[in-house]
Formats: sequence, structure tokens, C-alpha cells
Amino acid sequence: MIDKFFSLFTHDIGIDLGTANTLVYVRGKGIVIREPSVVARHKKTKAMLAIGAQAKKMEGRTPQTLEAVRPLKDGVIADFDATAAMLSYFIKRVHETPQGARRLGFPKISKPRVVIGIPSGVTEVERRAVQDAALSAGARQAYLIEEPMAAAIGAGLPVADPGGIFVVDMGGGTTEIALISLGGIVLNRGLRIAGDELDEAIISYLRLRYSLLLGRTSAEEAKLSIGSAVAQKPEKYHVVRGRDLETGLPKSIKVSSEEIREALVPILQQIIVRIADTLESSPPELVSDVIEKGIVLAGGGALISGFDQLISEMIKIPVWVADDPLTAVVRGTAKVLEDPRLLSQVRVTGGLR
Ligand code: ADP
Ligand code: MG
Repeated sequence: MIDKFFSLFTHDIGIDLGTANTLVYVRGKGIVIREPSVVARHKKTKAMLAIGAQAKKMEGRTPQTLEAVRPLKDGVIADFDATAAMLSYFIKRVHETPQGARRLGFPKISKPRVVIGIPSGVTEVERRAVQDAALSAGARQAYLIEEPMAAAIGAGLPVADPGGIFVVDMGGGTTEIALISLGGIVLNRGLRIAGDELDEAIISYLRLRYSLLLGRTSAEEAKLSIGSAVAQKPEKYHVVRGRDLETGLPKSIKVSSEEIREALVPILQQIIVRIADTLESSPPELVSDVIEKGIVLAGGGALISGFDQLISEMIKIPVWVADDPLTAVVRGTAKVLEDPRLLSQVRVTGGLR
């Protein structure tokens, strides 16, 4: 009871700091923030104007004096200040004591412990920067966990066991491919090809085929609505709106899932080739576990219809999609927060400053 009372004032926090989306989990409350990883600011002064959903709205339509940046583009911290600002904004948003409670004399919420899932390409220096940003935003302790590890935990896999677990987490800017065993990452072959490249492939396909210039958002919409990796029954259609490159005027075209697939598959194949390469360089004992248990797919890319099927057809290994793949990483950070044994079993960095 007392514990429960105090847990009202200590909100441990799990964060998935993704290239496309940031998700925040608060212990006892669940996932409370799900917003694009975007920061809008003044080009010259670098003063931040908006973060998250509000900043994303400005993408592609900022006047010359403003810019909308993705702090973690390509799975590395492309922009230190923007990353720190975003992290601190999200942490502060969830751990401030409500005004009403303060007035009634309730104590200030005590400092939370924070577990942050970061892309595995992040360097040592960048890790420290993320940690420092979390600590200065009010965290009592800040742990970092690599995203593929968090995704595997979120998918409910026994990461501390000696068996091999193979995870493919396809996000917006990066696809993380990792082999996990005994609580550590044995092999990690990420690549900077993921959802954003699929959107770009749709843009160039439609430009070449129909002389239609599409914005990124419209391309993403087409992907979400009818994107697929294998033949669909029946094939679907989607109307895209863009600008006719010949007349310069707005133009709408009805595209089929077959056409969109033609644009997407070459990119998906590059990812599959990297998966095969990674398996080839993996220790044979672990590969036999993977052949038996299959590859797990997480991240937004896992939702492309038939991507699992295409992978298993090409490399002859079973593939399955994690439950709710977009939240696998943040749910993994939540499990680590709630299970001290897990926290000690998996290799996380950080803790007290
Ligand atoms: P990150 O971890 O890099 O932030 P996410 O795992 O949140 O990325 O995935 C975002 C990517 O997944 C985006 O490129 C988005 O377009 C894509 N995505 C989200 N939902 C779907 C879907 N249903 N079908 C295909 N792609 C999707
Ligand atoms: Mg991710």
C-alpha cells in the first residue's frame, strides 16, 4: 500500500529513441507518448520552436528561416543539441508533479530511473551525451540499452539464455540486424536502409513512370496504405496527389499495390541480403538455433504486408512478426525497468553518474 502510494510520485520511465518515432513508457501508466522524432528550430539561432508531433507538421513546409530536423537520422546522433532537447522535453513532460497535487501539499515527484533504447550505431561519446541529457532532464539514473536487445525483450524472447535469437528491427532511418545470446549482442549488422528509403523509392518510381512529383508524406501514406512485399489477393489501389513535372500543375493518379511493390522490393532485397550475410558470419551453433526458432521482425517495417514471407522465401528460415512491432522496443525498456534481474542480465550501460 505504502509502496503503491509512493509509486504515484516516482515514475520510472522507458524511452525508445527511434530515428522516426520516440515512445515513452511510464511505470504504472503504460505508453504515454508516441511522437515523431523531429525538432523544429530557427536555422540561425538554433532556438527550438517545437518538438515531436508539432514539429513534424512543419516538415516540408518550413519557411527559409526555420528547419525541421530529425536528431537521430541514419541511426547515429546526427545532432547532439536537438537530441538532448528532445529527450529532455519528453522526460520533463511525463515527470512533473501535477499542479493540483502540488497545491494539495503532495511531495514533488522523486527523480525517475530512465532506461533508453538507442540505435546500436551510437558511439561511446554519443552515449554519454544521451545519458547526460537524461540526467540533466531530471533522471536519477539513466541506463542505455541497444534497440535490438530491447526489441527482443519486448517480443518476449529469453535473451539471457544461451540460445541464439535473431532480430531484425526495421525502423525509419535504420534497420538493425542483430544476433543475441546470453544477454549480449553477438553480432550486429545494421544498415542505413529502412522505411525512409522505401518512401524515396516510391517517389522516384512515380517520377519516372508518371512524371509525378510526390512529397515524402504522400509517399509514406501510399506505403502504409498499400505497401507490400509479395503478391496481394486482391491487389489494392491508392490515389496519390502530386505535381505533374511536365505541366507543373497538381495531378492525382491511382496506383496499384503491384506498382508500389515494384518500387519497394529492390530495397527490401538489400535488407534481406544483409540478413543472409549476417547469418553467414554467425557462429554455427547459434545459427542452428535461429533456423529452428526463426527470425523475429520488429519496428514499423515489420508491418509491410508479406515482408516476413519474402524473407523466409529468400533465405529459407522461418520468420515471424513481433506483437505490435512498433512498440516492441519501448515495451522492452519497460520490462527491464520492472525486472531488476533482467537489468543485471542484459548488458546495459550507465547507472549513476
Ligand atoms: P524508428 O524506430 O526508426 O523510430 P519505427 O519502428 O517507429 O522507426 O518505424 C517507423 C517506420 O515504419 C516509418 O518509415 C514508417 O513509415 C514505417 N511504418 C509504420 N507503419 C507501417 C506500416 N503499417 N506499413 C509499412 N511501414 C510502416
Ligand atoms: Mg526503432
